Amino acid sequence: MAPAERDRHILNKLQNQVRYVYKNSGFYQEFYKDSAVDPANIGSLEEFSQLRILTKEDIRREQELHPPYGRFLCIPPKDIFRVHGTSGTTGRPTVFGIGMDDWDRIAEAHARVLWGAGLRPDDTVMVAAVFSLYVGSWGALVGAERLGASCFPFGSGAPGQTERAVEWSNMVKPSVLYGTPSYALYLAETARQMGFDPKEDFGFRFMFFSGEPGASVPSTRRLIEDTFSCYVVDQGTMAEMTPWMTASGCRHLDGGMHLWQDIVYTEVVDPQSKLNVPLGEEGVPIYSHTERTSQPMIRYWSGDISRWDMVDCPCGRTYPTLVAGIYGRVDDMIIVRGQNVFPSRIEDVLRGLDEFGGEFRLVLERETGQMDSLTVQAEVLDKAFAFQEFDPAALEPVKERFTTELRRAIGVSVAVQLKPAGEFERTQFKARRIIDLRDS
Ligand SMILES: [Zn+2]
Repeated sequence: MAPAERDRHILNKLQNQVRYVYKNSGFYQEFYKDSAVDPANIGSLEEFSQLRILTKEDIRREQELHPPYGRFLCIPPKDIFRVHGTSGTTGRPTVFGIGMDDWDRIAEAHARVLWGAGLRPDDTVMVAAVFSLYVGSWGALVGAERLGASCFPFGSGAPGQTERAVEWSNMVKPSVLYGTPSYALYLAETARQMGFDPKEDFGFRFMFFSGEPGASVPSTRRLIEDTFSCYVVDQGTMAEMTPWMTASGCRHLDGGMHLWQDIVYTEVVDPQSKLNVPLGEEGVPIYSHTERTSQPMIRYWSGDISRWDMVDCPCGRTYPTLVAGIYGRVDDMIIVRGQNVFPSRIEDVLRGLDEFGGEFRLVLERETGQMDSLTVQAEVLDKAFAFQEFDPAALEPVKERFTTELRRAIGVSVAVQLKPAGEFERTQFKARRIIDLRDS
């Protein structure tokens, strides 16, 4: 659809959505009390963008005052079909009450998006992510079910489950995998240790990922594609926004994600001024449901950093695109000697180096005078490390190369420590690679 025509359609949906929450949610009635625009009569997308931004803190506070859902819930509690939420690793957990109609629309939206990613009814989708409170795996599952694909809800996280994932991937030969990029690499490493070849012994045609920047980090993406001989699709917004796949790559896009604006409307705002930035610029995506009846989120602050633009994609979609995916978090941005450094950029450099052993950690410390220092601890392959037993100086050229490449890519010097391969724990979910020692 031509963008201008689509915007009229989106405006109509947003007008209805905002009017609906203003009528049915005690929270939004209070939240929009001093609003510059009339929530019952949004006249344009510009007016819509003047509504107050909703944050995770707002949701937490509201749910604490009015447990468990807060006054976000616009349907009678008896009509809740699914209860999901966040784990609360960084504070009070957030609760989502999802009605049957919304669950249906989530399935429909994810089926559309997965079709765009290349999924077809004759595929078998292995969902290799944890089935729990976490809504991500369930969303992937219902979308694949609705599309008519064969679904293989394998899960992850139990002891020994990755070894079983290797055996089952070999036995069932699923054609599609959903998980995190870290998990796909861990699966390949485990497979090799067990004597399997991820390219020959599995049958993955493509993989779709969320939860980490990796699928849009060029060298991580290449590595996964080469390892499994498949293509990679990046996806994901926020659990609160489910249908979360509405930011998604397609069969043709080489990294990045189209924004399916008619399902979840995305704006990008300046992290400081909170004002909308035009296409071509970097900022924080904020998301709005356009067709939610149970617990709608309007202008929800993601805290992520991304750049949006129009791309001429062979798939023909005219949506704006997060061209490099979601490459950082406002909170995770490391400032080294005045330079913004994103962990995903470091990952890209490391995975492009032959000697890199697969995992890394970033250690942040506070130097005197409030300066932060960053040490990159990188694994190197056994082969490269073995020389050290004979000649400690043998690794110096490797370290120097790592240091030089990192300085070239991020613009400042960082310390590099080389570690043997296997030094760092592998994850079945999202990798935690930043070790922040600044407050201790
Ligand atoms: Zn496309």
